[in-house]
Amino acid sequence: MTTPLDRHGRPLRNLRLSVTDRCNLRCRYCMPEPDYVWLPKADVLSFEEIVRLLDVLIPLGVDRVRLTGGEPLLRAELSGLVRRIAARPAIRDLALTSNGVLLRDHARALRDAGLHRLTVSIDTLDPGTFRLLTGRDDLGRVLDGITAAREAGFDELKLDAVVIDGLNDGELPRLLDFARDIGAELRLIEYMDVGGATHWRLDRVVSRQRMLQMLTQSHGAVTPLPRLDSAPADRFRLADGSTFGIISSVTQPFCATCDRARLTADGVFLTCLYATTGTDLRALLRGGADDDTLRQRLLGLWTARRDRGAEERAALPDRGASAVVAELRQDPHREMHTRGG
Ligand code: SAM
Ligand code: SF4
Ligand code: SF4
Repeated sequence: MTTPLDRHGRPLRNLRLSVTDRCNLRCRYCMPEPDYVWLPKADVLSFEEIVRLLDVLIPLGVDRVRLTGGEPLLRAELSGLVRRIAARPAIRDLALTSNGVLLRDHARALRDAGLHRLTVSIDTLDPGTFRLLTGRDDLGRVLDGITAAREAGFDELKLDAVVIDGLNDGELPRLLDFARDIGAELRLIEYMDVGGATHWRLDRVVSRQRMLQMLTQSHGAVTPLPRLDSAPADRFRLADGSTFGIISSVTQPFCATCDRARLTADGVFLTCLYATTGTDLRALLRGGADDDTLRQRLLGLWTARRDRGAEERAALPDRGASAVVAELRQDPHREMHTRGG
């Protein structure tokens, strides 16, 4: 089958699979509220259901999967799912994004199960700032998790840091050195106004331009590297040969080449991170739909796709948080921790 294209000529390649909406941290930019409405446990897709949907999506073009959440390592027996996905030769890239807190316990099993790549989110190296940003005292566990990932053989380690004005922007040089010293690549992420970021304000965003200015001051000349694929990060090289990336979804959105779809833990298919509604595939699955019905439905969704969420947000004259708490409580699928970052 030829790869279907959406209305802007974009193929479907990447699937972000959220395996749980639960999390053991409370990052201020993602889960700042005191309490949350969780997905009912009975609605969460089984591994069999996830793999069945994946097998329907593969012929439509999906060849890269990222497991995410919430915190994916909270999902019981996750390495069992990794093993099943890794066994599919069509999946050329199988990655996982984690906050690292539980990584010491799981890194080896994930590697043995066939996980190709790991990304660990770490926004700060300062214990006090970590507590302020995440609401927990777990920096030591995250650092130990990163060590465990290296020991388990994850050579292509990435470290993600969301940069927020006045909170951790002063730490960029230190984060960069830390990543270089452990042989990982740092990716700096502009603070986005997605779902749960209810405290988002444009003046808290540290733009890609400002990040580059800061890093030029601390590390000398920064050289842009050519883009090789549709990955969201623009990559740069420093004079010492080390590289890093910047994901500038706010100031320089990259919707034009976006080949990503998302599946929430309870089976809602989303064609954009900013989509306000999705398609309930769980209802179809559990209602007895056969593979061909599922495929036709997904094909229809992708070929009708027009999403350019980040570009539309950037064009707003008076930009604020994209959702208020009442909306998120009414539909938790709009939360970043539910749809998967
Ligand atoms: N819990 C895991 C973690 O934190 O790595 C995986 C899920 S988390 C939603 C995935 C990524 O989304 C993380 O790197 C996180 O920093 C990022 N993220 C969450 N909220 C964000 C926001 N408001 N702006 C930018 N990135 C955000
Ligand atoms: Fe933080 Fe990830 Fe949890 Fe969101 S899902 S609160 S980004 S650890
Ligand atoms: Fe893709 Fe939507 Fe993000 Fe744009 S905003 S890059 S269309 S997921």
